[in-house]
Amino acid sequence: MYSYPWPLKGICLGAPQSGDIDLFERFVNERLQKDGINTLVLLTRYRYAFDSHPECRADNPLSYEDARRIKKICSDAGIELIPKMNLMGHQSGKSRESMDGLLRGHPEFDETPDLDAVEYCRSLCPSNGECLNIVCNLMDEMCDAFGASTMHIGCDEVFEIGKCPLCRKKSNAELFAGWIKSLYEHLAERGIKTMMWGDRLLSGDETGYGRWEASGNGTDPAIDMLPKDIIICDWHYEMMEKYPSVDVFADHGYEIIICPWRYRKNAHAFADYAVSRDRGHIKGLMITTWCDPKKVMLELLGTPVKDEGGWNAHELVADNYRSFFVE
Ligand SMILES: [Zn+2]
Repeated sequence: MYSYPWPLKGICLGAPQSGDIDLFERFVNERLQKDGINTLVLLTRYRYAFDSHPECRADNPLSYEDARRIKKICSDAGIELIPKMNLMGHQSGKSRESMDGLLRGHPEFDETPDLDAVEYCRSLCPSNGECLNIVCNLMDEMCDAFGASTMHIGCDEVFEIGKCPLCRKKSNAELFAGWIKSLYEHLAERGIKTMMWGDRLLSGDETGYGRWEASGNGTDPAIDMLPKDIIICDWHYEMMEKYPSVDVFADHGYEIIICPWRYRKNAHAFADYAVSRDRGHIKGLMITTWCDPKKVMLELLGTPVKDEGGWNAHELVADNYRSFFVE
């Protein structure tokens, strides 16, 4: 088994469908617990039956009872459950029709309402006070339902920023930092820690990561404007000689979790670099999955599903998981 020195062992998985919670229970008990996984970031997004704002429910929402059950399954297995929402970018696909819960319920919070299609995905407007109020209500409900003491607020790959008349008055770094701070302060008042993706806090040019795994639109100075007890999920999926973000976050006083994805070779290069540069600021490693959680669960439980004609990302993810936590 790959041996690394960190206490946190994590996986980031899509939230199961209501009908798959029995499978989820088996996955937690027969796989995650056995492999020593102690942290599960669950991609709930807007797939929850919000009572405060039912207009923001995405399709196939989990009920309160579903959430309680998922929480109990994790608690009984000694796993910290961290719900994750996308709370800036990732509010849609490219087209207008593909809006996720928040913008579907409140299209007035769209940062680029005049665009029929966007380059990647829509963002919410961080300067809209009513948007902040509603997002805080949604986070509260989500944290209550899942009994969360940490919330992952997403905030990766924000491309549409600083576009609306209100936002144009500020720099992208100020906009980004101001929004994150508001969410952080709201959660902190309730004793809940904030976790987020790290890419927008890194300069794409200076790190060599480019404008996906790092920022190309000026958000990166926000790294100096945020509370240092935000836990950063530092995700990198490509093969690099160096992973300079590990050093950048240490220099700025943040704790990080390193987050690889599907190829074990790349993941191990990242992990090896992180081990060699650890200044006590690395909490652990979390495998990201980014595919149908049912397939990942079945694959790792030993009943593989073939996705005819698909690229079978779940097989790669499972292989990488095994390389760190099983073999
Ligand atoms: Zn705006």
